[in-house]
Amino acid sequence: MPRVDHRLRVPPAISAEVVARYGNDCWLAMPGCTKVGDTSDHIVPHVFGGPTIVKNLRRACRHCNGLRRERILSGWPSVIHAVIGSPCAGKTTWVMEHMQPDDIIVDYDQIAKALMPGMDAGQPVPDAVRELTAGAWQGAYRNAVTLAKPVGLWLVKVLPGTQRSPRLLDEWLALDYDIHVCDPGKATVTHRLEEMKAGRRELAALRQWYRSGITQAGIDSRQKARRARLTALGLRDDEPSTPLPQSSPLNLPRPRW
Ligand SMILES: [Zn+2]
Repeated sequence: MPRVDHRLRVPPAISAEVVARYGNDCWLAMPGCTKVGDTSDHIVPHVFGGPTIVKNLRRACRHCNGLRRERILSGWPSVIHAVIGSPCAGKTTWVMEHMQPDDIIVDYDQIAKALMPGMDAGQPVPDAVRELTAGAWQGAYRNAVTLAKPVGLWLVKVLPGTQRSPRLLDEWLALDYDIHVCDPGKATVTHRLEEMKAGRRELAALRQWYRSGITQAGIDSRQKARRARLTALGLRDDEPSTPLPQSSPLNLPRPRW
């Protein structure tokens, strides 16, 4: 599909109304944001049928608009979860316990297994498979986060960053993904890694994870602030006293129009 420049499609009168109703600050506030809304960004992307009406538009800086591309805001309509944590933290097991049968999972370990079906469970991924797996994860991720379908999507990864997007966590928070940290404690994962005779790459990934200082509490407080902002922008309908129902991930509080 040829790339469409959405910015050209928004008549100035509509943009002016968007500014009047929601302000001219960049709604995305992604890494590198220049703060000032110099474009009108479609919440439901135009390529997926998102209409050019005031309710579907918010002001975004050119940088964030380009960085976001056609990635959906979680819940519009697919609900996106990101599950992060050290190697051997139990991420896949946790997702299997919480996902719905029809959900999609983009999981590094599962992709590695699919690429090398003879590999023993718990065996470190050989170097030859590692790069291929990283590329496959990245490709699946890029496509999955632009799936404009009502599905539950689970992204499973150690650290929320790639070479190209070192601050992926900030992008995920901006797009309102549900972010879960799996962390049974450094001693437990170190023990598990020793038991499976992990290679130096796994041990390096473990050290890198614990150096990152990422905690669920830290993410939750940032997410709370982000969600308050999205609510103020009319993009969430949160009742602060009602937690999101875990059992029905597609039943998110989204305003309808
Ligand atoms: Zn911005």
